[in-house]
Amino acid sequence: MSQKSLRIDKIQKGTVIDHINAGYALTILNLTGLDEASNLMTIGVNVSSKKYGKKDIVKIENVFLDEVQMQQISILSPNATISLIENFEVIQKRKVEIPQTIKKLIVCETKTCISNSLKEPIDTEFKVLDEKPLKIQCVYCDRIYKLNEIKFKPRRKKGKSVKQIIQL
Ligand SMILES: [Zn+2]
Repeated sequence: MSQKSLRIDKIQKGTVIDHINAGYALTILNLTGLDEASNLMTIGVNVSSKKYGKKDIVKIENVFLDEVQMQQISILSPNATISLIENFEVIQKRKVEIPQTIKKLIVCETKTCISNSLKEPIDTEFKVLDEKPLKIQCVYCDRIYKLNEIKFKPRRKKGKSVKQIIQL
């Protein structure tokens, strides 16, 4: 672990999501559903970073991310790194990777798009045209979206809605 990551206490076992784009930690926690975990979590927002100026960092005890969660993080923060911790040591560290196509996670807003068909809706699929800044294109209707235009599919929540959290 580098010096700058030590600002937040080390965890014994779990996951560290580092180099999150500044200000995106809460959005990521909400989107991935990690905000519903009852595990100990430390969140650093606008932590100073030599490489990127400012960054967010999240440490979660006893939680390991699945592929969908990593994809969600890669879309919002392509520079993010995921470290797996065991006995206070980093046993694996990897950069998130944006897939060439993003399936199911994002909604296409074109009403006539086949992915919105009322009769036979099919899973959305977007081709990644550019990674930084992100630019994606619906494979069905060719509409292009930038990061700030992307709408994520809402996931089932236990009570609160995605919108409420993001507005905090
Ligand atoms: Zn479309």
